[in-house]
Formats: sequence, structure tokens, C-alpha cells
Amino acid sequence: MKEIFLLKLGEIVLKGANKRQFESRLRQNVRRRMKKFGEFDVYIMQSTVYVEPKDELADVDGAWEACRSIFGVVSLCRCRPCEKNLDAIFEAIENYLGDDLDCAKSFKVESKRSDKAFPMTSIQISQEIGGRLAEAHPGVAVDVHHPDYTVYVEVRDFAAYVHGPAEPGAGGLPTGVGGRAMCLLSGGIDSPVAAYMIAKRGVEIEAVHFFSYPYTSQLAKDKVVELARLVAKYSGKMTVNVVPFTEIQEAIRDNCPEEYFTLVMRRFMMEISQRIARHDGCGALITGENLGQVASQTMEAMTVTGAVVDMPIFMPLVGMDKEEIVTIARKIGTLETSILPYEDCCTVFTPKHPKTKPTLGQLQNAEKNLDREALMERALAGVEKIKVAGDDDALL
Ligand code: ATP
Ligand code: MG
Repeated sequence: MKEIFLLKLGEIVLKGANKRQFESRLRQNVRRRMKKFGEFDVYIMQSTVYVEPKDELADVDGAWEACRSIFGVVSLCRCRPCEKNLDAIFEAIENYLGDDLDCAKSFKVESKRSDKAFPMTSIQISQEIGGRLAEAHPGVAVDVHHPDYTVYVEVRDFAAYVHGPAEPGAGGLPTGVGGRAMCLLSGGIDSPVAAYMIAKRGVEIEAVHFFSYPYTSQLAKDKVVELARLVAKYSGKMTVNVVPFTEIQEAIRDNCPEEYFTLVMRRFMMEISQRIARHDGCGALITGENLGQVASQTMEAMTVTGAVVDMPIFMPLVGMDKEEIVTIARKIGTLETSILPYEDCCTVFTPKHPKTKPTLGQLQNAEKNLDREALMERALAGVEKIKVAGDDDALL
């Protein structure tokens, strides 16, 4: 008999009245992600998503890999369905998990019975199946406290399912239940991680990148698009809005006091991002800012850069250490791309002594020789929209 996946829902189980909407979004997301791997039935019962290949042609391993990156799934397991009787359950375990069991030093059986009409309690099922397995595998000890391997039996509505230990899922909330936000995506380590963390809370992501050709190269732009694609593996397709930023940076260089270069530039970034975000239906901005990491990441600097927008700015990395950020970047697969050595526009015209405790009045003064509005309008008129899709996603 074939193999199926059970995806266990996390927090969304707790969401009361929204539960139906959350579940239907998750089912839709799983269906979309499975398309590429063949024909699958995807349905939800008892806070569990069932993913069932319809025929032999389905790419089960590919589908399994994809399921591991779906937000809203707290844990997942591959399992073998069988009839709801002890003989069938025992036989399914022998065929499906027998080899794993032989490799273990000790084991136990853990059972769950959500079909209350089944004539045995879960403890009785575990005892009976455990006894039969102990007889069939005399070299593997029974250890109910610290087993090397656990065999799981789940007696559900339509069938029983047997499986080994579940794996952790991507966690979070299903993509799409939390609205949409615009991430300021540089080519660095931090901003892709920030995008991932907000995406994990069920938010659809769009991106904006400020591009200063020829100070930054086509390679730097390709790198950002690749980072967006890596994040899209989790969050679904997104559009990268590439904003031509050279004219603004040169205007800053020519018209502003050097110590304010970075702050003036960041105020342009925030305001332009908010305009694109509004236009594209986003309700918040996301940045990879991190308190104290660089001169523009003090409270005072964040105050003056945040002052030009009124949308919420999400900074999920603000209190993390670099090591913690790098660990996540490695886990989600963006680190290798992020550390490729291309310039970011932030490193063009960097002041030697940047202002770390600026005030709003100082910034307004520093910007007084710039026609901010005209500069922003010209930049917005030149935006290039690049659509990216994650591996498993059709570009629609
Ligand atoms: P990152 O690793 O994400 O580049 P960082 O530690 O280098 O961040 P900064 O260069 O100060 O920090 O940038 C802070 C944030 O500003 C970035 O995390 C990103 O959200 C945004 N940002 C910086 N440069 C750009 C850019 N060229 N395009 C879009 N957003 C940018
Ligand atoms: Mg950077």
C-alpha cells in the first residue's frame, strides 16, 4: 500500500473563529506546492493535512522536501495507511518500519486513537503491538522511557497510519493569512532573513531593491533577485521592484554634508519603499536593521529614517546577535548567496564619520538643497519589476 504524508498544524489549531479560513488557506498552499510533483489529494481532517499521491507517477521525495518548507505546519511525517485492525497494523509496521527498528537498540510504541469507536484504548494498542514487535525483533529491547526509536500508530477516521518519528515543519502561520508587506532587500545577510521571519508569520512578501548602476554592478542585482527567489521558496512568488538610485545618491553627494549621507539616503529608501508598498497593497515595511550594528542603526538614526513614513516598519532582527542571524541564514539557504562579494549601494559614498545621534532638524537642514519630491518621482518612474517564483511555484 502506498505512502502518504501527515502534516500537523501548529498554532492555527488555536485560532478559534479564524480556524476555517486558516485551514483552507493552508490546504490551498499545499495543493499549489504539490502541483509540480504530480497528482496528489490534499485534505484536512482533525487538524491534520493529508497529502496522498494519487498514482505511481507522483514524485513523492520531491513533494516531501517541498512540504518541509510550508509555513503553518509544525511537524510532519511520512506514513503507511492500513486497515484498522491489529493484524493489519502489525503487518504495516513490519513492512514499512521493520528495517529501521532492527537498526535501533531499543524501541517503544506510541498510539493515538482519534476514532473513539475503535474497540481498544491507545494504551492497549501500544501494549499489544509492542508485544508482537518485541517477539518479532528479539535483538531490540523494549524501553518505554528512553527509547532509541519510537513506532507511532494513529487510528483515525478512515484508516490507521503507522510511522516513525515526525520531523519538525517550517512552523509559523500559513502564507497569506497575515496580509502583505514590502521588504527592503539588499544583497546582505540580514534583509533576506528579515523577509523570511515576517513571511513565517503568514505574510506575503514583496521586495524593493535600490540599485546604483554603475557604482553597483549587474551581478549585485542578479544576487538580490536570487536572494528573493530563495525566500520565495518559503513565501511564494514575489515581485522585486528595482529602483534606479544613482541620481539620488549623486544628488546627495553633491548637495549634503558628508556626515549625513547615509541617513539622507536611508530616508529616501524608506519613503520610496512606502510609495511602492501602498501602490502594491502592502500594509508594512520590513528591514534587516539590527540595533547598534552600524552607525545608521542607533535609536536616533532609526527615528529620523522612520520619520518619513507612517506605515509600521517591521525589524524582526533588531535584538538579535549576528551569530543568531547567520544561523538562520544558513538554515534557510540564503547565506552562501549573501556572502558573495558584490557592492551594495549603502557602501557607495559612505561618510568617514557618520552621524550616530542625529535629530530631525539636522536632517531637514541637511536635505534643504535637494528637491526630494522630483528625485523620488523620477526614481519611481524608472522602477523595473522583476517577478520571481520559488522552486515549487508556477510563475503566474
Ligand atoms: P543587510 O545585511 O540586510 O544588507 P546591513 O546590516 O548591511 O543589512 P544596512 O546596510 O544598514 O545594514 O541596511 C539596513 C537595511 O536597509 C537592510 O537590512 C535592508 O533592509 C535595507 N537596505 C540596505 N541597502 C538596501 C538596498 N540597496 N536596497 C534595498 N534595501 C536596502
Ligand atoms: Mg547591507
